[in-house]
Amino acid sequence: MHTEILTAAHNFYDTGTTRRLSERRRALGHLYAALQKHKKGLLGALQLDLGKSPFESYETELGLLLQDIGHTVKNMRQWAAPQPQPMPFLHYPSKSCVTPEPLGTVLIIAPWNYPLLLTLQPLVAAIAAGNCAVVKPSEYAPHTARALKKLLADCLPAGWVQVVCGGVEETQALLDLPFDHIFFTGSTRVGKLVMEKASRHLTPVTLELGGKSPCIVEKSADIPLAARRIVWGKFLNAGQTCVAPDYLLVQRQVLPRLLREVARAIERFYGSDPLHSPDLARVVNARHFDRLAGYLLKEEVLLGGDCDRAALKIAPTLVRATESSPTMEDEIFGPILPVQVFDTLDDAISFTRRYPKPLALYLFTRRHDVRRRVLAACPFGGGCVNDTIIHLTSPLLPFGGVGASGMGQYHGRAGFDTFSHYKAVVQKGCWLDIPFRYPPYRHKLGLL
Ligand code: NAD
Repeated sequence: MHTEILTAAHNFYDTGTTRRLSERRRALGHLYAALQKHKKGLLGALQLDLGKSPFESYETELGLLLQDIGHTVKNMRQWAAPQPQPMPFLHYPSKSCVTPEPLGTVLIIAPWNYPLLLTLQPLVAAIAAGNCAVVKPSEYAPHTARALKKLLADCLPAGWVQVVCGGVEETQALLDLPFDHIFFTGSTRVGKLVMEKASRHLTPVTLELGGKSPCIVEKSADIPLAARRIVWGKFLNAGQTCVAPDYLLVQRQVLPRLLREVARAIERFYGSDPLHSPDLARVVNARHFDRLAGYLLKEEVLLGGDCDRAALKIAPTLVRATESSPTMEDEIFGPILPVQVFDTLDDAISFTRRYPKPLALYLFTRRHDVRRRVLAACPFGGGCVNDTIIHLTSPLLPFGGVGASGMGQYHGRAGFDTFSHYKAVVQKGCWLDIPFRYPPYRHKLGLL
């Protein structure tokens, strides 16, 4: 199954079109124009799939994508340029060069939570680096998947990029094929399956996974500011964000004030009845709603807690947690934020280190020594001091996990590198052939 898709990609790759930088730029230009032209339809599809307000979808998906394409088009000539390197004198006369080459045909598997951005941002990097791509959007964001399939078919040559819609069965069939690279964004559980399947063809993988990302609020922090930025970053897309703060670690002295300020920020952003706010996205489906609502039956609710199953909405909610709380077992991926207190910074650091390495870490503090200690002691993919989420908005910063939160990076130059092979070639002169390296070796070791 699907072998014809790979054949079509190979045939297109063999035309040499993707090897030409001018064609790659043209393709990205067409994609940019198509995204602008179909902006309304795409934002509408995201609203149907996740109940996101069009502003939020632009802020967190379409706007970032357009920025990434602009940055890539502006810089890809430099990224793709051959890099001449000096050679050791021993090899005189010679010169060497490292040239980024496309990998070939790559598979991109996307999740449902930012279905536009997380499907197309890796694709932009794959095209910039000269690859053909097969794209598998998530079946849980069907409106966006359909809109993407049509958009890509309209703006790019068939064979360069192909979209396969479907669920587990289709993805598994694709994973049986010998792609040159697999770029997977999704859960750690499925990431392991992807890597296992990829190993059969020795296909390299980039895994963009999730995890429990801590958010530490130290007593010197600007508490009202911290509250606003935590509420924004956590309840964006109803908490269904891979880098959302998964749990709060708050220094005991500032907990009451932080809770007051968080309540104030929630009311300011979503009104006194958040379940009816058009700015609060919904949970993706009933299965996830039931999983999340189940937490509320087991935990002490500090703030919020209202749910509407028919609308798949859960109000922004804070719960009191201990290490053994159900909310501290797995990534929450919804609008529920467990809160724990700590007394010393060492306690907070050692707490975060009990979990697998997270995708993100956030720290709110005004003290440099606290910042230095936490950043040095805690492994994590990327993060912010005195903010949440925004580290992924810069195309100049590589984005990716570490350990259980993933492997490999993308965004801007890092994405180009992920989809390139750096081919190193020495070109040797023929007019001189120093015999020192050849046998017989006899006493040559003594000369070194
Ligand atoms: P998921 O792993 O369930 O699905 C991701 C993709 O894999 C989908 O396209 C799906 O069709 C496919 N898939 C699902 N089960 C499969 C199986 N058994 N075999 C083969 N393919 C399968 O993830 P999700 O629920 O769509 O997304 C949520 C997860 O993704 C969270 O853990 C989140 O943290 C993570 N995530 C990570 C990033 C990141 O950039 N690191 C971004 C977004 C989401």
